[in-house]
Amino acid sequence: MPDWFKIYHRLPYPMKVMAASTRGRYLKRWRYGPATEAMVEEYLSREQWSAEQWRVWQEERMAYVLHRAATRVPYYREQWGQRRANGDNSSPELLENWPLLSKEILRRQPRAFLADDCDLEAMYFERTGGTTGTQQYLWLSRETLQAWFALFEARSRRWYGVSRHDRWAILGGQLVAPVDRDKPPFWVWNIAMNQLYLSVFHLSAKNTPAYLKAIESHRIVYLLGYPSALYRLAREILDQKLSPPPLKVVISNAETLLDYQREAIVAAFQCPLRDAYGLAEIAAAGSECEMGRMHIWPEAGHIEILADMSDEVLPAGQVGRLVATGLLNADMPLIRYQTGDRAAVTDETCACGRTLPMLQEIEGRVEDVIVTRDGRYIGRLDGVFKADPHVREGQIIQEDWDTLRVLYVPAEGYTARDGETIVQRLHDRVGSDMNVVLEAVDEVPRMPNGKFRAILSRLDRSSAGSNR
Ligand SMILES: [Zn+2]
Repeated sequence: MPDWFKIYHRLPYPMKVMAASTRGRYLKRWRYGPATEAMVEEYLSREQWSAEQWRVWQEERMAYVLHRAATRVPYYREQWGQRRANGDNSSPELLENWPLLSKEILRRQPRAFLADDCDLEAMYFERTGGTTGTQQYLWLSRETLQAWFALFEARSRRWYGVSRHDRWAILGGQLVAPVDRDKPPFWVWNIAMNQLYLSVFHLSAKNTPAYLKAIESHRIVYLLGYPSALYRLAREILDQKLSPPPLKVVISNAETLLDYQREAIVAAFQCPLRDAYGLAEIAAAGSECEMGRMHIWPEAGHIEILADMSDEVLPAGQVGRLVATGLLNADMPLIRYQTGDRAAVTDETCACGRTLPMLQEIEGRVEDVIVTRDGRYIGRLDGVFKADPHVREGQIIQEDWDTLRVLYVPAEGYTARDGETIVQRLHDRVGSDMNVVLEAVDEVPRMPNGKFRAILSRLDRSSAGSNR
């Protein structure tokens, strides 16, 4: 735990509010400025652009970013220099001539991705919220950061009839209360951002009424959080037959939203649930419109979907690895960056009338897939827990080529029949030769940052037994 939190936890609540609000004022100054409203209007007006207008815009921006990367960014400049020295005459003007970039390479030398005309002192520094070993270091200019937050304001809040001036609550993984705390407050009010920060670590059956009371007494208009945390709250509201305060919208982000989570959250809060997709490295982002379709934000980045086992670009409708070229942060350009997410794009148009491209689905993380012996990649299995089995939530762990272990939290009324249903549904999806081991738990373990993983793979994909 950082020292700052140790001091923070000893403060009386009003002092915590002061501390959180000081931090909030600092963030607000970085994120929003006099140009914000005009940017929001500009982004909204682009949503009616023709395909031709988008093509021209993207070509121009892509050309600028690629040129800047090849000439001003040490990592890429060196890479192209070496290619030239080896007699490679391919043009950096074409995206397909650029190799894929892994998270590992970026993590090892983040500063090499920063354009050489940047003034680090004047930039916003961000350590992305990954677990230890998966963190990334990023630098953004004030202009870029404000464009990013204007995009969120336009394509998320505005679409749902709320704004950054509304009072909102966030269910997040910051330790705003000590983990062993057993009575409220499990939150802190941030005056500068009109934001109630609710701890995900203290959500429980017993604490749920206190969370709802806090949301009500702070007159919260909308709620944002991890799907798994929103689900936990929703599940308790339904099971304890509590009535939640009225909200305009619930926004989920940062994890794959599962079908059973969506159903429970909508049923509990009785308001629309809109999912957001956004990479901390800001190279790709999207948000759900009122038709429930996930629109991509072209200004954030250009998206390609590549096959799981080769670098072949897949057509619309097929799920593969999401590779993004960031178009917003030209000071730290990430070209063909392997986001670690799996998704499919679609070429359908949306009934909402917006011309923004769409993702057909987001399957989850590349490392969180079940791989079968016959070479299938299965990224979503939440259907296994849907509707009838009396299970609150579950996690499916692939231990090896032949074994799946299912951790599940039984709900009231759970019987052996429910277990059989789960095994049967898994066999239908992964093949009946896979051993399925069921294990009841009180709680599915979260990651250190409070995030939930529906699928975990411990499979060594290079191991013997593979037919590849
Ligand atoms: Zn739409």
